[in-house]
Amino acid sequence: MKTEKKKDIRSLSLEDLRSFFTENQDQAFRGNQVYQWLWQKGIFNFEDMTNLSKSTRALLKDHFVINHIDIDKQQKSNDGTIKYGVKLYDNLVVESVLIPTATRTTACVSSQVGCSLDCKFCATATIKRMRNLNADEIYDQVVAMDQQSRLYFDRPLSNIVFMGMGEPLINYKNLKVAIDKITQPEGFGMSPSRITVSTSGISKMIIKMADDQVRFELAVSLHSARQELRSQLMPFAEKFPLKDLADSIRYWHEKTAKIVTYEYIVWKGINDDDQDIRALIDFCKFAPCKVNLIEYNSIGDDQFFQADKDRIKAYQTALEAQKIPVTVRRSRGKDIDAACGQLANKTESL
Ligand code: SAH
Repeated sequence: MKTEKKKDIRSLSLEDLRSFFTENQDQAFRGNQVYQWLWQKGIFNFEDMTNLSKSTRALLKDHFVINHIDIDKQQKSNDGTIKYGVKLYDNLVVESVLIPTATRTTACVSSQVGCSLDCKFCATATIKRMRNLNADEIYDQVVAMDQQSRLYFDRPLSNIVFMGMGEPLINYKNLKVAIDKITQPEGFGMSPSRITVSTSGISKMIIKMADDQVRFELAVSLHSARQELRSQLMPFAEKFPLKDLADSIRYWHEKTAKIVTYEYIVWKGINDDDQDIRALIDFCKFAPCKVNLIEYNSIGDDQFFQADKDRIKAYQTALEAQKIPVTVRRSRGKDIDAACGQLANKTESL
């Protein structure tokens, strides 16, 4: 049998594995053994499944391959952030970022190779979307980042943000399977409250997540609460108007009792006017929320520049006056293009 024809064993559920063995005149519990090797012990080689007989290992090898990611390159920032080029089984590459603070290590994980969307200010948008990551490629990034965090910072991962390459909600099915495994005690065992999924605002998927009663946190990249401007900055937003976005976020809050975070970059001469601030405040009234004013990371264009400090302060003051929690977030890993919106597969070797 040719390698490329074989199925990736990691795409099988525990039930599928159990059935495989009964269909092959063996006992179902072998499926549990294999599942443990794959998911608890994280091995990538059938030969290492030492509690299986030689003939069982040969049977598996005959039918399956074990696809997995490899850390290809890594690059360290002056502020301690580390960016990784992660090679997939078909040689495509995504990036994952490890962001340490004094007490935490956050992994920023990718969900697509490239991105389906066309945000004008984001470097990932310049690479064509090649494909969705499958669930185990998402899961593997988390495991790899955890290993790196233990290695470099002597502690496990404390948080995960889906703010790497891609739009997670366009790959929701795989994202959900991955997060289920990340949060299961027999998987990675992380609390869902330590996981944040960031979306550009695909309203119908926010409704779906609310219906699924997911337990992770939601961040929405808003950047403007004026429809016309938002559609210019994020052209796909035409299809997901602010009205629908607001409705979906309100529904999310009703169903999950969770508070959304709006990510918002303030650009000089683009959205730093008083009318922009008023529009944001009106938008914030639809549902309880927090606002993160994030720093713009240049992608080497000549259109977008970070707004002046006094305009950012004006946003902050106006939001605080309305009792809307607001933080001004500094970027990490800028010197190595590892900050938000800079991921475009330019990781250089150490
Ligand atoms: N597609 C998802 C997640 C990836 S982007 C989303 O849109 O939310 C993660 C965050 O980085 C988003 O808030 C995005 O708007 C922001 N971002 C994109 N380009 C940026 C840039 N050049 N500088 C700062 N933040 C940027």
